[in-house]
Amino acid sequence: MTAELISQVRDQLDASPTPRHLVEFVGNQLSAAGFTDCTDTNSTEKFSSNGFIKRSGSIVAWRQGSKKIEKFRIIGAHTDSPCLKIKPHPDEARFGWQTLQVEVYGNPLLNSWLDRDLGIAGHAVLRDGSVKLFCSATPIARISQLAIHLDRELNERGLILDKQLHLNAAWATGKKSLDFLQWVSTQIDVEPEQIISVDAQLFDSVPAQLLGVDQSLLASGRLDNQASCWAAISALIETRNPIETCVVALFDHEEVGSTSAVGAAGPLLEHTLERIADLGGLSRVNYLQALSQSSCVSADNSHAVHHNYPERHDHAHAPIVNQGPALKLNSNQRYATSSTSAAMFVRACESADVKHQMFVSKNNMPCGTTIGPITATRLGIDTVDVGIPQLSMHSVREVCGVSDLVSMQKALRSYLTL
Ligand code: ZN
Repeated sequence: MTAELISQVRDQLDASPTPRHLVEFVGNQLSAAGFTDCTDTNSTEKFSSNGFIKRSGSIVAWRQGSKKIEKFRIIGAHTDSPCLKIKPHPDEARFGWQTLQVEVYGNPLLNSWLDRDLGIAGHAVLRDGSVKLFCSATPIARISQLAIHLDRELNERGLILDKQLHLNAAWATGKKSLDFLQWVSTQIDVEPEQIISVDAQLFDSVPAQLLGVDQSLLASGRLDNQASCWAAISALIETRNPIETCVVALFDHEEVGSTSAVGAAGPLLEHTLERIADLGGLSRVNYLQALSQSSCVSADNSHAVHHNYPERHDHAHAPIVNQGPALKLNSNQRYATSSTSAAMFVRACESADVKHQMFVSKNNMPCGTTIGPITATRLGIDTVDVGIPQLSMHSVREVCGVSDLVSMQKALRSYLTL
């Protein structure tokens, strides 16, 4: 069972170098499981009882419950990860190298992108309005670190990277034979003139793989937060006959603050809930009442205690790898967890026979945040922030515990049927 679930996670991670690729993968998975793609549906009749809507790098999926809607059970997660995006005019020749200029997206651990065999993935918008995804089949770019001989104090001083000067990627040598737009056009098999805009990024070409002599870890790019996306969608697909209506919302742009047309601070979830309520025959008053009774689990990875830096955690509230999902608490509301939403998630874990942990950051260390407080604020829904513990968050290559992935999926399944 665990092996099968982990191979599902790996397949998803390897197929999803960008949020759009993830949304495409998840949409296909939902279609295969009998959900209807309602992305372009305008008429209420065709808005299916089990369906999904895709909007760029975000997707919302739902399964109507067996009884009239009195509340929604919602799981939220984010599809994006910090990365290096290719600029619109990226080509530059330098001293025998053909390079691509990049823009930093979110807050990546910059050093982790050095000396990797990188691929390029993204999508192009064509003159006819269609969108084509692409992904290089092999690694084609590299950001090389300066040799120690040319920077002798590096190990004593630490690495300092200038975001404008030091992150551009080499992808060919010698004289210019191909520009970036031409390359994209060959990837999607159209003439370059047909492409109006391109959104592309670098990614680590190494696939997700099990790690540790006991194979208890999973290493991959984008575990934050595609691991939670997998657990949420897998839980929804496996919850076949829920009593309450279940909704999973996976949002782009969390790493840059969520304020976009398709981010968690936008209207996507709210509008979808309203359409589901309409389908279920609810009046506006009934809908608002249902919102007030609803709950949301905001799933986004947490920080496991690092073997070399244990002092960075408050030891009484420190998530240990492979000891279950962590509830994330912050009384200053950087996390949305309340006493009631915490109790709800603990009950879900208990009924799934899954261990859970508590995370509170140290008072002298700033705390992160996620989509939980945004959902709670926008919709007035009691929300709990939870996440599987991981190391190297925002590195191009992250690592988490295998049993934590399975535990999170079980806990979310249990939540949907509480
Ligand atoms: Zn995250």
